Amino acid sequence: MKSDTIAAIATAVNNAGISVIRISGEESLSIVDKIYKSKSGIKRLSDMPSHTIHYGFIQDNEIVIDEVMVLIMRGPKSYTKEDIIEIDCHGGIVVTKKILETILKNGARIAEPGEFTKRAFLNGRIDLSQAEAVSDIINAKNDFALKNSLNQLKGNVLEKIKIIRNSIIHDLAFIEAALDDPEHISLDHFDQELMDHMNENIAELSKLLKSADNGRLIKEGIKTVILGKPNAGKSSLLNVLVGTERAIVTDIAGTTRDTLEETIQLGNICLNIIDTAGIRNTEDIVEKIGVNKAKTMAEDADLIIYVIDATTKLDENDMEIIDLIKDKKAIILLNKSDLDTVIDSKEIESITGKSVIDISAKENIGIDKLEAWITDMFFQGKLSFNDEIYITNIRQKEAISDSLSSLQMVMRSIEDGMPEDFYSIDLMHAYETLGTIIGEAVDEDLVNTIFREFCMGK
Ligand code: GDP
Repeated sequence: MKSDTIAAIATAVNNAGISVIRISGEESLSIVDKIYKSKSGIKRLSDMPSHTIHYGFIQDNEIVIDEVMVLIMRGPKSYTKEDIIEIDCHGGIVVTKKILETILKNGARIAEPGEFTKRAFLNGRIDLSQAEAVSDIINAKNDFALKNSLNQLKGNVLEKIKIIRNSIIHDLAFIEAALDDPEHISLDHFDQELMDHMNENIAELSKLLKSADNGRLIKEGIKTVILGKPNAGKSSLLNVLVGTERAIVTDIAGTTRDTLEETIQLGNICLNIIDTAGIRNTEDIVEKIGVNKAKTMAEDADLIIYVIDATTKLDENDMEIIDLIKDKKAIILLNKSDLDTVIDSKEIESITGKSVIDISAKENIGIDKLEAWITDMFFQGKLSFNDEIYITNIRQKEAISDSLSSLQMVMRSIEDGMPEDFYSIDLMHAYETLGTIIGEAVDEDLVNTIFREFCMGK
């Protein structure tokens, strides 16, 4: 594919140890040759073999800008399948920008966000699901999200989708051939065979669709709200959760002034704790911010953790919270189990119909049980990455859902005894929609939209 040569700073633009500038396109080598001086002063990069590293200087005319290492990766054995040069320079903002400017002055143009990965896709090195995985790797907020994206980058979504598409196109081709040549190809008994294929494909797509729910929880974390009266031990619980090996992954200021999100890694699970200033200051959530605010928070949450101080009797505030959480996925923690308690877990279980765990935030008792419960509740007890695929991308999820509906329509048409050419339309629709996941049959606008979400230099 003939295209112009693009360049961008591939590392974050801040003062760091080194920065990397990436150049891709057929002019990469000749452009850099114009500004690169080897130590001996005679070496030309264009004469050097692929996948080698060279030490020298970047110059703007005779003025030396920086001392650099230059990596040569000739296409097609490169990220974009084009000739790529990467320049490792000193990490200052000024020097990095100056080198980029010099490259641009000598014939490259600045890359758009995601353009390197877009070229990798357009040049056939990766499919669209893999390209989206690259973006997810960059944005991964936790270990599991990262592992899942790496699996997608290996092409496991691509493989799954390919198998289903192959099966559909095979059936489509058979129907078309039989309709064209009814004397030699018979569709007798084909309905049953098609039903069997549809059943298999529908089961596979349903599994993928179901994985999307877990996928969101993996990618973004389980949206969790901690409720409880003052002194119940909410802050202590939070401290235990973010304790030594359970480090805070991020600390993102929310959109509203008093809301913070803390991402906590609890074993294999990522909890996105939506924390309010009220909770943080250990003030009564019910009195301070009112039941309404708690209600709003609870409505949006995937999980509510309700902390009760087991050394004091329940009062009307507890009853209000219990009412608030009755239709939600919630767990109740009876805290301070290290002291003499006056509340019994069985009693709370029967009042609330929720699972109750005795814990001591102070002594770090029962936290492992909380982790096991959450895994059980959200991931049916299993959260493994050996052969599971989790769809984490909304665009892919919608395409799967859409093709699933088309295949279900095919099933209905077969059951209703409709003629074959009737449902070949739905089969074709499912085939094409699945193609959009891996980037076959996607229009240019969609490609541009997807790659615009990338950062520069990727
Ligand atoms: P919050 O107002 O709900 O955030 O409650 P805090 O976490 O500030 O805890 C209130 C008080 O209870 C503090 O003095 C804690 O040390 C104490 N506390 C919290 N959890 C436990 C526990 O498991 N056992 C004991 N004995 N004390 C606890």
